[in-house]
Amino acid sequence: MPVRIVVIGSVNTDMVVRGPHIPSPGETVTGGTFLRADGGKGANQAVAAARAGAGVTFVGRVGADDPGRSAVAGLAAEGIDVGFVGRDRDHATGVALIMVDAAGENAISVAPGANARLSVEDVEAARAAIESADVLLTQLETPVAAVERAAEIASAAGVTVMLDPAPARPLPDSLLSMVDVLTPNEGEAAYLSGEDRPGAAAARLLSLGVTTVVMTLGGVGALVVKEGLEASVAGFQVSAVDTTAAGDAFSGYLAVSIAERRDLLQAVRRACAAGALAATVAGARPALPRHDSVDRLLGPDH
Ligand code: ADP
Repeated sequence: MPVRIVVIGSVNTDMVVRGPHIPSPGETVTGGTFLRADGGKGANQAVAAARAGAGVTFVGRVGADDPGRSAVAGLAAEGIDVGFVGRDRDHATGVALIMVDAAGENAISVAPGANARLSVEDVEAARAAIESADVLLTQLETPVAAVERAAEIASAAGVTVMLDPAPARPLPDSLLSMVDVLTPNEGEAAYLSGEDRPGAAAARLLSLGVTTVVMTLGGVGALVVKEGLEASVAGFQVSAVDTTAAGDAFSGYLAVSIAERRDLLQAVRRACAAGALAATVAGARPALPRHDSVDRLLGPDH
């Protein structure tokens, strides 16, 4: 039986124009090429977890529009249960307008749309799925009240609560105290803890009630800190072309590996391998690796 993950989070459509340069206010730049891609941290992490081999239920909100239908179909095509994805009649599917210049620099403007309408009631509707999951995985592109209610339901049922605190925003201690595994990058850890050094930031987060901090450090790998343990897990050497979805691959794989009851450091190593592979492929969804390629990178004795 595959492990069960419930992901509560965002769905976005990325609208990307790659052009000669990023326009200044009032300027029009022509000559670019256009790409539309499925995105949103929640949806990306759900896809990563499904490709890792888990049974995944996704809880989110899209608009009653074409991008929403297409995003939901994309999730369903990965084998993800989309029965708890609400269709909002009054708000459009979330959109990220992304401009990329010839050097790869970008400017992004996001309209959260229906994501900002994900409610406590939407989460309540998925109560039975959350209570029977192995891991609840969530991020911060949807309202904190919904994330907090999901954590309460999971925590009361003894389900592991994982939170990727991205994008960084203030969080109540009541939420942090329910988090079993927090996966900030260095910037998010500093933001939430007020401490710049990774070790000090992790210690502060533990003092706020988080059980385990797994801090991602880009190509360097990750730092794992919990009571009685502080360990570094080395990153995998790859030729990185685009790290866009590395963090989402990492979180999806870590959730599944923890649900599979792997040893914590082995689970983080597996997540690092998934993140590294994601960095070798352009874009978000196409970059999320399947479990056989993660197994290959880890080698025979993982
Ligand atoms: P985020 O995108 O959330 O800031 P990171 O950039 O820290 O997250 O990446 C998440 C994980 O993906 C890292 O912990 C690492 O394991 C892996 N990773 C990211 N970039 C690289 C890279 N250039 N080479 C190898 N692994 C990488």
